[in-house]
Amino acid sequence: MIHVEDLSVAYGDLRALDDVSVDIEPGEFVTVVGPSGCGKTTLLRTIGGLESPTAGRVSVDGDPPEVAQADARLGFVFQDHTLLPWKTALENVTFLRRMAGKDPDPEGARELLATTGLDGFEDARPAELSGGMKQRVAIARAIHLGADVLLMDEPFGELDEITRDEMSVEILRLWRENRKTVVFVTHSVPEAVFLGDRCLVVAGSPASSGPAASTTGDGTPGRVVAEFDIDLPRPRDESVFGSEAFGRQVAQVRGALHDDA
Ligand code: ADP
Ligand code: MG
Repeated sequence: MIHVEDLSVAYGDLRALDDVSVDIEPGEFVTVVGPSGCGKTTLLRTIGGLESPTAGRVSVDGDPPEVAQADARLGFVFQDHTLLPWKTALENVTFLRRMAGKDPDPEGARELLATTGLDGFEDARPAELSGGMKQRVAIARAIHLGADVLLMDEPFGELDEITRDEMSVEILRLWRENRKTVVFVTHSVPEAVFLGDRCLVVAGSPASSGPAASTTGDGTPGRVVAEFDIDLPRPRDESVFGSEAFGRQVAQVRGALHDDA
């Protein structure tokens, strides 16, 4: 379980997040949605042990995130795929697992690449792959690492809308088949609703509430202003986008964002 309690994070005078509490159950798919600059990445990085709390606590299965990270229990997928350009798709997938000192499993990596639609591209280098394919490699790498928790920060942010929709369906399938806990950050409300069991709405503008704010640090820190259970049936596929229930949930989440703005 991921436990976040009364978490605040500041960068110097800038209070990026204030008093955030959330528990995430094993196997849950939680989405975090909010406008740019509200502290989503900060929240994800703190859960991942890449930032330290200024106040409050974060734990992953009872351990500090740094410990979970060192044990390769956390997998990251960022907007920028962060693949090594000189390695092939297959080498990129197996590399982190090897670095983490786990048993190599090249067959598993090949299978994973095949199930993510990259059959035949094992030996291609990142420069030879499309944006969507590179993100598939990055996702395969995180799953192959054997992490229980996937922390995803706008992983489809650079992709065109059609590829994005395809990738959304794909990530749900991989999640179903691999039983991961996912925390998925996005600024897209439809994406947050389509993917999540639960959607956290974050609002705040730590540095933009006037010219003085960025220097004095009295902007509004990011907070979780609403939380929604997304009760769309699973498995979900593209047909969900057109459903009335989907439209209703999207409107609800948008309402919470705008109420706060
Ligand atoms: P989001 O991911 O929602 O766009 P971030 O978590 O990246 O938001 O940023 C929240 C606030 O913290 C922003 O005002 C941003 O400028 C600031 N911030 C983020 N990272 C740093 C950092 N390393 N140093 C200083 N300020 C930062
Ligand atoms: Mg961000």
